[in-house]
Amino acid sequence: MPGSDLSGSGEGAASGVRKARGSPDTTEPVVMSNNYDWLSLKPPEPTPAQCCGGGCSPCIYDQYRTQLDLWEKAKERDDPNFLQKNKPQETEDTGRYRFRLPSGTSLGLQLGQHLVLRGVIDGAEVQRAYTPITPGGRKTHFEVLIKIYAQGLMSRFVRCWRPGDSVSWRGPFGGFLYKPNKFGEVLLLCSGTGMAPMLPIISHVTDDEEDETFVTLVVCAQDFRNVYMKNFLKEQGRFWNVRIFYVLSREQSLDNLPSSYRENSKLGRIDSIFLAKVLETCRRKPYTLVCGSVSFTQDMTHLLKQLGQDDSSIFSF
Ligand SMILES: Cc1cc2nc3c(=O)[nH]c(=O)nc-3n(C[C@H](O)[C@H](O)[C@H](O)COP(=O)(O)OP(=O)(O)OC[C@H]3O[C@@H](n4cnc5c(N)ncnc54)[C@H](O)[C@@H]3O)c2cc1C
Repeated sequence: MPGSDLSGSGEGAASGVRKARGSPDTTEPVVMSNNYDWLSLKPPEPTPAQCCGGGCSPCIYDQYRTQLDLWEKAKERDDPNFLQKNKPQETEDTGRYRFRLPSGTSLGLQLGQHLVLRGVIDGAEVQRAYTPITPGGRKTHFEVLIKIYAQGLMSRFVRCWRPGDSVSWRGPFGGFLYKPNKFGEVLLLCSGTGMAPMLPIISHVTDDEEDETFVTLVVCAQDFRNVYMKNFLKEQGRFWNVRIFYVLSREQSLDNLPSSYRENSKLGRIDSIFLAKVLETCRRKPYTLVCGSVSFTQDMTHLLKQLGQDDSSIFSF
């Protein structure tokens, strides 16, 4: 691709991010090592509970078999880049991209923090923020949900990626500092890829047996087909302290959804009646996190304030 430098290990081609604790905002180019922890890279077999039952094609089990096949071949060749050949596609325009971290390093990302990806398009540098959806402490790889926009600049750069390319990330930046049991309940309002920072927060709550925070997640999407991470959400929704609602702006009928989703789904947009009901049924006083487009964030903040929530109980990513 003209103007880009995706191979090698010099400046502009760092693979992943190496972040020294206490010194954020630094990225160093990192030299690859061949010391891979193959077992930790092995794809986990889905449990029956992870299947959304929606007759997806490919289904989570098809994806698992493909991933396992790739893992076995990669292991045989001792080449983890081979694993990246199958980028799981979440929707038509959004994929989950996996980046291998150099051996012995971890992102050290705190919940809700994001990274900045650097790309070069037509000789000009482009930087955009993306939020890893995998836990920040993971040592082998991290995953990012990236939406490709038809005219988007970084989208053009991402479209040119090939398995094994190296890309430059820096960070971490920003962040919502979550502490177990700090809030009685967290209300997570997100639209589109705004779901990204919410995912590690939910995982963190449900992975920690001592954490009794209630979680209410409201996922906004155009239609059911465009809801990301359905299997993950279905699994999380089974925890006693997690409830999930879907608000679908362009879905014609709830009958188009698998029956298990209908009760917790609403057609249209989040309005004050819906949000008031969600707030009323929170089991404890909620702290609200909002992530989505600028207009989504403005709308949600406006509605929340109208419904009596004050600034100190709202955080917008
Ligand atoms: C803190 C933070 C975290 C984020 N996390 C994520 C994440 O996890 N995943 C994710 O996918 N995104 C995330 N984003 C958004 C991401 O940073 C980018 O803004 C997004 O990917 C679009 O980048 P782009 O360069 O491809 O598009 P841009 O070039 O910035 O274009 C954005 C939009 O404008 C349109 N557009 C561009 N040029 C024109 C034109 N000439 N005429 C008309 N329309 C045009 C594009 O089609 C697109 O709809 C995050 C943003 C922030 C601030």
